[in-house]
Amino acid sequence: MKKSLLHISGLTKSFDQSGPVVNQVGFEVKEDEIFALLGPSGCGKTTTLRLIAGFEHCEDGEIHIEGELVESPGVHLSPQKRKVGFVFQDYALFPHMNALENVAFGLKEVERKKRPVLAEEVLCRTGMEKYKHRMPDELSGGQQQRVALARAIAPKPKLVLMDEPFSGLDAMLRDSTRKEVRAILKKSGMSAILVTHDQEEALSFADRIAVMNNGQIEQIGTPEEVYYHPNTQFVAQFLGRTNLFRAHADGSDNVETRLGPVKINREAEGFILCSIRPEHLTIERCKPNGKETGIITGREFRGHDITYHVLFKGDKYIVHTDNRLIFDVDEPVVVKPLEPAVVLEQKANA
Ligand code: ATP
Repeated sequence: MKKSLLHISGLTKSFDQSGPVVNQVGFEVKEDEIFALLGPSGCGKTTTLRLIAGFEHCEDGEIHIEGELVESPGVHLSPQKRKVGFVFQDYALFPHMNALENVAFGLKEVERKKRPVLAEEVLCRTGMEKYKHRMPDELSGGQQQRVALARAIAPKPKLVLMDEPFSGLDAMLRDSTRKEVRAILKKSGMSAILVTHDQEEALSFADRIAVMNNGQIEQIGTPEEVYYHPNTQFVAQFLGRTNLFRAHADGSDNVETRLGPVKINREAEGFILCSIRPEHLTIERCKPNGKETGIITGREFRGHDITYHVLFKGDKYIVHTDNRLIFDVDEPVVVKPLEPAVVLEQKANA
């Protein structure tokens, strides 16, 4: 069992009278773990990261790093003493220093003459050794980002905090840089917290994800857990497209819906709100049969799969199929579930 590196409980922060922007936030990051804070703009991700870094003071709650209390009302360890590394969205490299000098700059605790040697070693680990004499403006965005990462990990922090570090890169570079950075972190045995509003980025980069909304964490889990087993409507909708439907449950794990009988992921009783991902539905051709028939109202070809929009018994559905299932717009179809739907909300019978 891996040890806990960072432990946060009841973390709360307001900037003014409008209420907390971080509200009773709690989570744990283990050694070697890559953790993501995912949520829409303004939900409090950066403020949470800045509280961990020591750039902000909290008004309630506690932050422990390796068992040491570093933040609580009345306790505030300075950022330098927390021994965490940072990588920001704009890379924040010093423009008048070359790559090597940028990395060496962070090695304040290392004897001066040893700094360039160590900096070169870290640049080598991030695949940037041959660019060590280049100035930041002579490097591409992805290369600058790798130098920024080298600078953050050179002092061997236990934890690296990354605020939207890939958002300045174009789609191709973003993908490859992300993979490289993940590999470097894993190889160095460092933990990291990534702040992002990009669900695909969080799903592919992190070992676990905390989904934030309105200053609070709605759910923490592995990418598979939060994607396939969302706890709330917000998580279901923020993590990708989904189909929501209401039904009445009788205590079993089956409900009768307009799609016909649908299995749900747990036994439930009363009025329920369910989510089923588009790839967990399929469509089948059928003969036109009045109200029992659905109709394809739209099609989006996405290369590896196709998204169909279907109107079925008055409800709209989104269905992802593999790209060999070809249907035409206006074709009569029926919609069928392939997997159980996930219960998001349950209200007892009135
Ligand atoms: P984004 O993805 O847009 O960066 P975020 O989830 O990281 O958003 P935060 O930057 O943490 O969100 O901001 C949360 C809320 O706190 C916002 O409403 C923001 O306007 C407010 N806020 C952040 N910093 C300050 C500040 N220094 N003074 C006043 N309000 C602030």
